[in-house]
Amino acid sequence: MTKIDEKLEPILAEVLRRNAGELEFHQAVIEVMESLGRVIAKKPHYADHALIERLCEPERQIIFRVPWVDDAGQVQINRGFRVQFNSALGPYKGGLRFHPSVNLGIIKFLGFEQIFKNALTGLPIGGGKGGSDFNPRGRSEGEIMRFCQSFMTELQRHLGEYTDVPAGDIGVGGREIGYLFGQFKRLTNRYEAGVLTGKGLVYGGSRARTEATGFGATYFVSSMLATRSMDFEGRKCVVSGSGNVATYTIEKIRQFGGIVIACSDSSGYIIDEDGIDLELLKEIKQVRRERISQYVQMKGAGARYVEDGSIWDVPCEVAMPSATQNELTGKDASTLVKNGVIAVGEGANMPCTPEAVRIFQGAGVLFGPGKAANAGGVATSALEMQQNASRDSWSFEKTEERLAGIMRNIHDNCAETAEEYGAPGDYVLGANIVGFERVAAAMTAFGVI
Ligand code: NDP
Repeated sequence: MTKIDEKLEPILAEVLRRNAGELEFHQAVIEVMESLGRVIAKKPHYADHALIERLCEPERQIIFRVPWVDDAGQVQINRGFRVQFNSALGPYKGGLRFHPSVNLGIIKFLGFEQIFKNALTGLPIGGGKGGSDFNPRGRSEGEIMRFCQSFMTELQRHLGEYTDVPAGDIGVGGREIGYLFGQFKRLTNRYEAGVLTGKGLVYGGSRARTEATGFGATYFVSSMLATRSMDFEGRKCVVSGSGNVATYTIEKIRQFGGIVIACSDSSGYIIDEDGIDLELLKEIKQVRRERISQYVQMKGAGARYVEDGSIWDVPCEVAMPSATQNELTGKDASTLVKNGVIAVGEGANMPCTPEAVRIFQGAGVLFGPGKAANAGGVATSALEMQQNASRDSWSFEKTEERLAGIMRNIHDNCAETAEEYGAPGDYVLGANIVGFERVAAAMTAFGVI
């Protein structure tokens, strides 16, 4: 661990004590604290009025019961969460995750990251996150719909376009957002399009929102490569996951001339040296909703499926972890470095363990942290809110152009700030400081609230 500034040590100790056992939340807070020492050395007033303590304490945490009836007529109970972490810059904004691993600590880590990520976009959005320990895998359409309706029946009382605006995340895509929005509309009798993002195009969604996180992450890596006069052309890339973020990362890398040779799901990974066949991947994952192992059977010669291995054993020059937190360990990072990786961009939230990040940075690998690299999704959600507010609908080209500009700004702001604070090339430090200073300035203006 980098040394934590001595003024921040007691603050961190108190956060760890009050949130005992929430390991992912601890990990996210420690990473930010490691960066803040340099800020308060230059601008000590940011440590006044318990600003950092307030930043680490969610404004509101909502936990609720989600009862629903499965196809066999059995009552099932899940737990729902919404952590409204910080609204200094705008309404709480952040996705909903449906996955059996979801608990309060996971939602708090995601919500905390979201504060800085949203601030980095330069758009008026605060930080929040939510979800449920519901497992959508193997559930029928009817079960997914009934679960979403029950979840929204409680959540709706905490939402509003000026209050809290959720979107998708793991296990929550266009289908789930449709059910959630339908139930919100029914319960409130309001067509409040700006209350959810990631909506379908026919009912207020934005073009390029589906693609935004993966496209944005690829733009970010492209900017990092450009600082060393490099680009994606002809480079072998590995992208973990095969969900929303991974799919559109693969698509944009291909447009940039790179070759993605491996991707995965939680059961295993596939290698296709010809480059992953994106149309086939979409057919399997988005249309049929099947496992990635199907790819090998459908593609035939040239592709291979590996169960129970690490996708990071596949040699590549660019790695983009886009599945879930802590999926890339120190050991994986050492393998990637040994195999000649030059850039790593986090499409997922906190997919690299702290040890992995240290190894990449120590080896001079370009490393783009999730809160900067994957901010394109939430940025385009904010553009969706703009379109909803003005009852307008932009073209794909216009929206993608805005996204590309936002990602370039995030990259440049992080790079310039890292340099200003004496750590050129350290995008982790740059992202944490840019995000923190924007939120801290607004919190200071508001007084102690
Ligand atoms: P999806 O549900 O669309 O896809 C998730 C993918 O990751 C699936 O391939 C899934 O495999 C795999 N996965 C999930 N959990 C695990 C696990 N424990 N081990 C290995 N693989 C796993 O989610 P998204 O693509 O939306 O999200 C991926 C990541 O990106 C998350 O960290 C999310 O927080 C982050 N993110 C998403 C944004 C968005 O706009 N969607 C915005 C910013 C960040 P399987 O099908 O087997 O479960």
